[in-house]
Parts: sequence; structure tokens; C-alpha cells
Amino acid sequence: MKTIYVSPFGTIDELVLTALEESCWKVFGYDMKRLEHVPEPMFALNTTLNQCNSALLLKDILGRVPKDAVRVLGVTNQDLYIPMLSFVFGHAQLNGPAAVISLARLHPLFYRLPNNNELFIRRVVKEAVHELGHTFGLIHCQDPLCAMSLSNALQQVDMKKGELCDNCSILFNETTKQLSRTSGREK
Ligand SMILES: [Zn+2]
Ligand SMILES: [Zn+2]
Repeated sequence: MKTIYVSPFGTIDELVLTALEESCWKVFGYDMKRLEHVPEPMFALNTTLNQCNSALLLKDILGRVPKDAVRVLGVTNQDLYIPMLSFVFGHAQLNGPAAVISLARLHPLFYRLPNNNELFIRRVVKEAVHELGHTFGLIHCQDPLCAMSLSNALQQVDMKKGELCDNCSILFNETTKQLSRTSGREK
């Protein structure tokens, strides 16, 4: 059975990881397992920006994809950027094995708002589903309620659900059929 692995960088709240794993299992139907956490991704830190380059985190994840993994989702507390973009909530390979999400800008505290753990966890789940969706070949969806809709700002994250719309679900099911055929050939 192929598995989606969650790979925490540094220490991530257990409640957050459990909620994320449960939601991703519901949406994608793959077993969810967790890799031993690795140190904070200081190798990717840009000291001028005080942010980590998300492409370097993806590269790091790609270097340690378990044999039975269908996908690996990195989770970091560090703020992430892609050169040319001031920040990203996450970054994924389209149709590739690796994705990563940053929790930094999902905290109400980041915006000097009162802490709200439930809201925070809902946001984490949405971003996890979104980035994993990209790894399964899903592109941005026009439905603002769909987890695959584009989020440049937190308001867009809060508007959408942590689930795929019907169209995206159909596309995902097509992809996974192909994935199981491929893994059958590899044996
Ligand atoms: Zn996206
Ligand atoms: Zn959709």
C-alpha cells in the first residue's frame, strides 16, 4: 500500500500534525505516516530576508523519499519564499513526489491578532490539501470554496474549504488510477 508521508522540520505541534494527517487521509485516501522530524531547515535560510527558500526544502525532501511513499509533505514553522515572490504558504512539485507547507503566516499571532488554534489548524489543513493536490497534478481551481483555489492572501485561505470540489475530485481519481497502474508495473 502506497503511503503519504509527513516530514516535520523542527518541532511541530502534535495536534496540528494529527489533524493534518486525518484530513489528508479523508481527502486522498492514502495511508498517512510520519517521518522522524529533521532539524530546522537552516540550510535554506536567506539571512537578509529571514525566510527559507522553499525550493531548497523540496530538494531536501526529494533526497529522502521512502520507498513506499506516493508523496511526501514537508511541514515547517519557517516562513518560506520563492525568488520573485515575497512569501508562499507552500510549494509543490506538479505531479512530483514532494511538497512543503509553512505554518508561519497561518498563525493569527503573525498578524498580531489573538491566538486561535482551531482557526490555525483549519488553515494548515487547507494548505496541506492544496499542496498535496498539486503533487497529484491538480492545478488552481476557479471555485473559491475548493481547496485547490489559489491563495495569495489569508482571506482566500479562510474562504475555502479543506476539501476538493467535485471537478478536482474527479481529476484526482483519474490520476490515482494511473498511479496504481504504474506501481503495478514496477512491482
Ligand atoms: Zn497552488
Ligand atoms: Zn476544485
